Amino acid sequence: MNASIAENLAQVHAQIQAACQAAGRPASSVRLLAVSKTWGADAVRQAHAAGQTAFGENYIQEAVDKITELKALPLEWHCIGPIQSNKTRLVAEHFDWVHTIDRLKIAQRLSEQRPATLPPLQVCIQVNVDGGETKSGVSPQDLPELARAVAALPHMQLRGLMTIPEPAQSEAAARSVHRQARLLLEGLVQEGLALDTLSMGMSADMAPAIAEGSTMVRVGTAIFGKR
Ligand SMILES: *Cc1c(COP(=O)(O)O)cnc(C)c1O
Repeated sequence: MNASIAENLAQVHAQIQAACQAAGRPASSVRLLAVSKTWGADAVRQAHAAGQTAFGENYIQEAVDKITELKALPLEWHCIGPIQSNKTRLVAEHFDWVHTIDRLKIAQRLSEQRPATLPPLQVCIQVNVDGGETKSGVSPQDLPELARAVAALPHMQLRGLMTIPEPAQSEAAARSVHRQARLLLEGLVQEGLALDTLSMGMSADMAPAIAEGSTMVRVGTAIFGKR
């Protein structure tokens, strides 16, 4: 038993709580997604024993092996990595959430391949808020059309947006990028989409992300250690 995963989780929760307090938000308004990529089933078991239920994975086959091995535990699995067309079936059959929708074609395949015996797949659209040319994520211009199309698909529920901003030079710069994501979400809500999730903020930018309305922060290294 590795006591440090439990200790690390407690520390991350304390950071989330402090950021929420500074932002005047209840601590319960931000969920922690423990990013367990590259770590084995044992590390996930230890985090679960310390109270963690939501886990994020980037590499589909690695994740599916882990999810299968840990079937007996009541865990919630989030896909936060890029998805190729030939991997959509595995994702649709094994994950609870997908944060990285950036093309309609992938969303359509996930919807078609979601087994009828499972609840609708919970999805976020990844948006490229800071305009990195080579980055995945839909551009803010193309977001509304993609969001309407995804929201209309059966077997999935569009919950919100996800971002992976470039490291910012200052807290103010980080906040401005996160604010853009929040404003994009609010714009979609005003159009009538029922969205409640902003997946943004990692170890380095948790506080500015929470200050701008993040509802889910994704943390790996600070919980499990260096990969
Ligand atoms: C790996 C990863 C994280 C967690 O990063 P750490 O530096 O390990 O905390 C969060 N979000 C995404 C999309 C990732 O790929």
